[in-house]
Amino acid sequence: MKKSLAILMAAMMAVTAAGCGSKQEETTAAQTTEAVETGDTTAAPEDAETEAEAEGEETAATGGVLTMGTNAEFPPYEYYEGGDIVGIDVEIMAAVAKEMGMELQVEDMAFDSIIPAISSGKVDVGAAGMTVTEERKASVDFTNTYAKASQMIIVKEGSEIAGPADLEGKVIGVQLGTTGDLYCTDLEETGSTIERYNKGFEAVQALLQDKIDAVVIDGEPAKVFVEQSEGLKILEEAFTEEEYAMAVKKGNTELVDNINAALEKLEADGTLDEIVGKYITAE
Ligand code: GLN
Repeated sequence: MKKSLAILMAAMMAVTAAGCGSKQEETTAAQTTEAVETGDTTAAPEDAETEAEAEGEETAATGGVLTMGTNAEFPPYEYYEGGDIVGIDVEIMAAVAKEMGMELQVEDMAFDSIIPAISSGKVDVGAAGMTVTEERKASVDFTNTYAKASQMIIVKEGSEIAGPADLEGKVIGVQLGTTGDLYCTDLEETGSTIERYNKGFEAVQALLQDKIDAVVIDGEPAKVFVEQSEGLKILEEAFTEEEYAMAVKKGNTELVDNINAALEKLEADGTLDEIVGKYITAE
């Protein structure tokens, strides 16, 4: 029994080695195992490794393109102006990329697709007014924080909702996958209903149409949305206090360090303040 198993295994290894292409003689046992584990039997492991390394070099620290995943529905951090995505995060990351000798490429996607895109390597960094949370830290690594933020409550003028405590039992609109969604979901236990929208602006539209009682969203986009519409107000008391950071693939300490070094320099020379000042006027 044991003997036939050994023969079977030897046969399997031979097949695997053959599957690795013409370089099979150079293929070591360790590399064969690695190729099998990763499911990569289409190319010689050596070739595959060289390719991966080359790609890594292109998107990592020196030269090349730094791809940023964002959700351009979040003014003033990221939004469309004509065909261009502009905003605080875009400008900060363009300045960071410049410090790193790289060029920034922005990719717009749904907010809840950003972390998966970082994990799969589709983008190098997520910059999307993204709040640092313990839950997200399990999937991505965060840079130093670059902004303080709060979840605020938007209601119609004349609403009976005067603060966070009044949200109990109400219908609350949030943007899918955001911290507003996360924390309001806890309120479901108290009888509140949560309506999740793909865009924060859609939640505000629903509020204007009386489909929901309140919107919980980050303070800065809240200000922009309320300014754009009639009859809405932001409640004074914040729902939560949070901090924004950039997110990168878990374990990519080199990229975190490079972004942090750039952020520190841009903070020291006043660039960060200058960028924020362009979009947010002090009250
Ligand atoms: N700060 C919120 C979060 O991280 C919302 C971010 C966003 O909608 N872009 O969930």
